[in-house]
Amino acid sequence: MAAGRFIGCFGLTEPDAGPDPGALRTPARRDGGDWVLNGTKMWITNGSVADIAVVWARTDDGVRGFLVPAGTPGFTAHDIRHKVSLRASVTSELVLEDVRLPADAVLPGARGLSGPLGCLNEARFGIVFGAVGAARDCLETALAYAADRTVFDRPLAGFQLTQQKLADMTLELGKSMLLALQLGRLKDAGRITPERISLGKLNTLREALEIARQCRTLLGANGITLEYPVIRHANNLESVLTYEGTSEVHTLVVGRSVTGIPAFR
Ligand SMILES: Cc1cc2nc3c(=O)[nH]c(=O)nc-3n(C[C@H](O)[C@H](O)[C@H](O)COP(=O)(O)OP(=O)(O)OC[C@H]3O[C@@H](n4cnc5c(N)ncnc54)[C@H](O)[C@@H]3O)c2cc1C
Repeated sequence: MAAGRFIGCFGLTEPDAGPDPGALRTPARRDGGDWVLNGTKMWITNGSVADIAVVWARTDDGVRGFLVPAGTPGFTAHDIRHKVSLRASVTSELVLEDVRLPADAVLPGARGLSGPLGCLNEARFGIVFGAVGAARDCLETALAYAADRTVFDRPLAGFQLTQQKLADMTLELGKSMLLALQLGRLKDAGRITPERISLGKLNTLREALEIARQCRTLLGANGITLEYPVIRHANNLESVLTYEGTSEVHTLVVGRSVTGIPAFR
């Protein structure tokens, strides 16, 4: 997978366990030397095109990760249809019906929820930068458009209302970029924490979506077409707002961090 010869997918979410991975049900039981898995995973990126799925399941020993090669008897993937966000990748339901795996299919170093959550922390950190990039593309597109577009006999960019939008977006994009940069520095120094990553994802997604929506207004009707990248970013950011920890969950992580009181349930 690291060399790019195999596509993998990451199966954590279940129909009844989204933001709360502690609620995941998929059981994995020992049968002689083998493992047998049953359950359903939902909303799995690349599920139907992956050569191998990492499936998180509940064992007597807590949550463990299992490598499930495509084509394993009892393992099927079904694409979720009619997506209007992140259409460049397929999103699938994974069904496991008495999937039998050898003893060494279990990831040896990952025990408990810290396994999947450790992966998520890495992905969430990357997403912070991805969202900044999407927002930057929107703002650069809107700036160029506003300079070029004439309304009421003047360039759109020359109106105070437009400049307020552009100035506010420049400010928020800059703040998001600095936050992402600071998180990178903390990561390099070994001082990043899940709470800091939550802060980063929460802020960056919120601002990137707001920037995408504002830029869409500057493009007028053109803003709703795929001739420009803005509405595509806006739609994709809606998914990013939800996966890798929803905004609500990141808010609760930050809330717990500053108050010491968990308010998840
Ligand atoms: C395009 C896409 C790709 C994805 N890829 C993957 C993948 O590769 N692997 C994977 O495992 N998952 C993946 N996911 C799933 C994603 O992580 C989940 O959708 C996410 O965790 C939310 O779960 P849910 O959709 O079941 O929301 P629900 O559980 O139905 O939540 C609904 C709403 O309730 C809110 N909520 C939940 N708890 C609380 C609370 N305590 N207080 C207030 N509000 C709360 C949520 O934040 C959300 O806004 C993907 C999702 C999408 C959209």
